[in-house]
Amino acid sequence: MTSPPGPLYVTRPMLPPLAEMLPLLEDIWSRRMLSNDGPYHQQFESALACFLGVPYVVLVSNATLGLLLALRQSRMCGKVITTPFSFVGTSHAIRWAGLEPVFVDIDSETLNIDAARLPEALDDQVAGLLPMHCFGRPCDTQGIGRFAKEHGLPIVYDAAHAFGVGDAQGSVLRHGDFSVLSFHATKVFNTFEGGAIICHDEATKRELDLLKNFGIVDETQVESVGLNAKLNEFQAALGLVQLVHVEGYIAARRQREQNYRDLLAQTPGIRLATAVPGTHNHYAFPIFVAPDHPLGRDGLYLRLREHGIFARRYFHPLISDLPMYRQLRSADPARLPVAKRVSESILCLPLFPDISESDQARVAALLGPP
Ligand SMILES: *Cc1c(COP(=O)(O)O)cnc(C)c1O
Repeated sequence: MTSPPGPLYVTRPMLPPLAEMLPLLEDIWSRRMLSNDGPYHQQFESALACFLGVPYVVLVSNATLGLLLALRQSRMCGKVITTPFSFVGTSHAIRWAGLEPVFVDIDSETLNIDAARLPEALDDQVAGLLPMHCFGRPCDTQGIGRFAKEHGLPIVYDAAHAFGVGDAQGSVLRHGDFSVLSFHATKVFNTFEGGAIICHDEATKRELDLLKNFGIVDETQVESVGLNAKLNEFQAALGLVQLVHVEGYIAARRQREQNYRDLLAQTPGIRLATAVPGTHNHYAFPIFVAPDHPLGRDGLYLRLREHGIFARRYFHPLISDLPMYRQLRSADPARLPVAKRVSESILCLPLFPDISESDQARVAALLGPP
């Protein structure tokens, strides 16, 4: 008799073989340099810039603080146009930066902010944009860029899902004034916790480097009102080792995405997300449950749970429906019909580099007719 399968979560963090970490840990233990721009921090920062194909990387302790620092550095004041269809941290960072989110509806295919609707959100208090590359599906960077340029608005991209994501011309991280990556345990690339800000000139990098360390220049000079958003040596060493493996992780994710596509192509009542032409993305596997599906989205979600499969309703509820945001004028559900519909029909299936074919088949079978 085979034992029943264990619980299957929406993601499973990847770790390199422990043996590859040990020499680096022994080195950290012997040097006793644990944080503050140590040797692993420096090595990881340049290796990452090289891997991502971007000029300037500022490592930070997590993406939320990275967004906060990027918003601060962009010197926005007032309102920030953003998406309601994201992890709550996107809007929380806006609030912590002393700014006000303005929600704009999303595009039903890309699941990202709809560039055509940006003009409706514009008023004289709007100071910038914070779009998000949802599930690694690139934003309409051309449309957003054109609008921002026309109105002189800075753009901070929440690129928490966009590690290693490219479009036809290169990394999506080259767009906007800043992009912010997350290395949280649940993301494509992890250092347990961590993140990075991508910027495009040396002076900005220097200012962000100060901002993430209290604004301290040297023993006697403090240049800005910084905070503590440093990545430590342990995390940097892990990042260096993870970087050796991440192409393998991404390739495995893509292969498993294709498996789901093959398994679910004929399943009635379920639509798969269309591939965005000319791009690759690999963060999640969303499906859309038809309104006339006999079980409905929540019914399917519960059916999976009963079998120990923890799919997630990303992103439900919408940020704009949460108590601290729903009183905003732009949070009115009538203004966000696409986000509302997507949020009520979407289900993200378990996807990670080492999910087995049999587990994928088990998920697919439960999504089919009973
Ligand atoms: C994970 C995530 C964040 C927050 O990242 P942390 O590194 O955990 O702070 C922000 N935005 C989005 C879209 C995310 O998925």
